[in-house]
Amino acid sequence: MEKGLVFVISGPSGSGKGTIVEELRKIAPNIGVAVSATTRAPRPGEVDGVTYHYKTREEFEALLAAGEILEHTEYSGNLYGTLKSEAEKVIGAGRDLILEIEVDGGGQVKRLLGDDCVLIMLLAPDAAEQERRLRDRGTETEEKIRMRMEKAHTEIAVAGDYEYLVLNETGKQEECAEHLLAILKAAHLTYPRMRHITDHYFD
Ligand code: 5GP
Repeated sequence: MEKGLVFVISGPSGSGKGTIVEELRKIAPNIGVAVSATTRAPRPGEVDGVTYHYKTREEFEALLAAGEILEHTEYSGNLYGTLKSEAEKVIGAGRDLILEIEVDGGGQVKRLLGDDCVLIMLLAPDAAEQERRLRDRGTETEEKIRMRMEKAHTEIAVAGDYEYLVLNETGKQEECAEHLLAILKAAHLTYPRMRHITDHYFD
């Protein structure tokens, strides 16, 4: 069976990745997600095994040593990583996989998977709007907000390594999810994915 494609969605904290992926899954229910592992403490309302697999640093490092993590990074003082088992169960079943991960991890996945991975950056219209969304979320201390806004500079700096840039304009989540869906559909029609047709055209 043909393996599914991996779509990396990155973007500064507050760009709305979680909301947009939720919106996308409403219009493309067959898309799978991989629940990441993290050493960050759960925020109110987050559920272990659903939002993240919450780990101690020792547990996370043991998973890394055992080769069970596809990509990982340290972000705002915490470790985050994609579990191979989570990714494999989706793409192995021929379904597309969305990874909502930061830029360092996105680069790692692209190097591993090449044409089978599409890098998409999601952005709020500007930094002021991003910061407003972060503040409205009400889950971060001022210090954490400052760190996440600082990290946004690094993320914007590597936007050129990404293949698509999608804006998440305020109040236009549905339109934004439609843009993502268009990218997903187009990715299945690129030449590397379709060359089996020309390879066997005259068979
Ligand atoms: P948060 O603490 O806000 O849930 O996530 C912080 C950042 O880590 C976000 O940019 C999020 O996309 C990213 N992230 C979440 N899971 C992973 C992962 O498995 N790998 C990587 N590289 N980044 C992740």
